[in-house]
Amino acid sequence: MGRNIDECASVPDSLKRARACRVCSLIKTYEQFKREGCDNCESFLGLCGYPDKIRECTSSDYDGIIALMKPRANSFISKTKKLTRYVPGTYAVGVSGRLPDWVEEIMMDEGISYVPRDGTIDDKYLMPKRNQRVNIKKF
Ligand SMILES: [Zn+2]
Repeated sequence: MGRNIDECASVPDSLKRARACRVCSLIKTYEQFKREGCDNCESFLGLCGYPDKIRECTSSDYDGIIALMKPRANSFISKTKKLTRYVPGTYAVGVSGRLPDWVEEIMMDEGISYVPRDGTIDDKYLMPKRNQRVNIKKF
């Protein structure tokens, strides 16, 4: 079945078992992640049907909820939260905890930049990539 790019992710039908993706901060219930995976990250996370991965890559400990109807419209909130590439849906403002190393490695291999959702930014993400030229201006 083809998927429309503006199709909305499932909205959590209960907040009791809701969890937020540690990559994109999309909020869904555990059952929805297990049944459908993450609408933004499924290609490299593969959460669908894998409870262990859901526990590692999503968290029930998150802050705030943003309902985004048009993430690609470059609104202030989707830009500051770095959500412009994602599907419409319900997102957390912050998600506690970090991704396991194996996921970060997959993302790096695929050239996807990881924005930690726990409010910290690790220095390694600010370092230039291999083969990337750094221009240092001299004054
Ligand atoms: Zn995700």
